[in-house]
This record gives sequence, structure tokens and C-alpha cells, in this order.
Amino acid sequence: MNYCSNCGRKLESTHLPQMNECPFCTYVDWNNWVNVSCVVVAYNHKNEFLMIKLKGKEEGKLTFPGGYRDLGETLEEAAKREFFEETGMAITQLALYKTYTKDEQRLIWVVYKTKITDVKFLENDEVKELLTISEPQQVDSTSFRGELTEKLFYDLIQEN
Ligand SMILES: [Zn+2]
Repeated sequence: MNYCSNCGRKLESTHLPQMNECPFCTYVDWNNWVNVSCVVVAYNHKNEFLMIKLKGKEEGKLTFPGGYRDLGETLEEAAKREFFEETGMAITQLALYKTYTKDEQRLIWVVYKTKITDVKFLENDEVKELLTISEPQQVDSTSFRGELTEKLFYDLIQEN
């Protein structure tokens, strides 16, 4: 941001590269914003986890159900909404698992785990297939959507 969101004047840099300040009022701008994406790892009764195969722009890419939190939502609400939109399944119980950070994309993933007793899939605009993963050999690692998908995948595999 180059202008003060308080008085509209041009911001000046400071001794900290991520911090700019307004010379006229007390406003300080921190260049450290990130988007938060809420991600769900769902396990079935055999302790296998679910991944999704995307359609559209990222056709065939593999990732986990999830997406950006909207303003006004809690992180858990965002996780449940995104999971429902992408799989058709409603979930109630979520347990916070871990978080991942990718500054190049100004992105934070907040990952939850949940259990699904009856796995079914409702095809939708974003997802063409639901995959049930028990062995890492089941997936082609070059088809992961991105670095965070890959990190989460191998963290889960190592736990099993
Ligand atoms: Zn100002």
C-alpha cells in the first residue's frame, strides 16, 4: 500500500522493510497481510484420507478440500462450507491439525481433520473426483496442485 488509509497522504518507508508510515498522522502500514485457506483432511472408517481431483483451470490436479475464509466466517465455518461445496458432505466435528505458511503466495493453510462414516461424493463445478488414499503410491506426485498440498500429503503419510 502506498497511501495512508487514514488521511490519504503518501506513506514513507521506515527502517523496517515491511513497515511504512504516514508522516502526517500516526498510521502505520505493515506489509504482512496473508490470505487464510481452511483445509480439511477427512478420514473414513479404514483410516484412509480423502483428496480431490480438480476440474476446470487446474484440470486433473490433486489437492485437499478447502478454500479461502470469507470475512465474517470463523475458520471452522469456512472449512465446513468449503468441504461441503467440494464434496457434498456435511461435517460437524473438526480438530485442528496444523498450519502451513507460503509467503510467496501470501498464503496460510489452517488444516483440520475430521471423520466421515459414510463417504459419498456429489460432483460439482470444482471437483470431478474424490480419491481415497491409503498408500502414497496411489498418487502421481507431479499432479499435486502445489507445494502445500505436497507437504500436507507427506506429513499425513508419515503419520500412518
Ligand atoms: Zn495519514
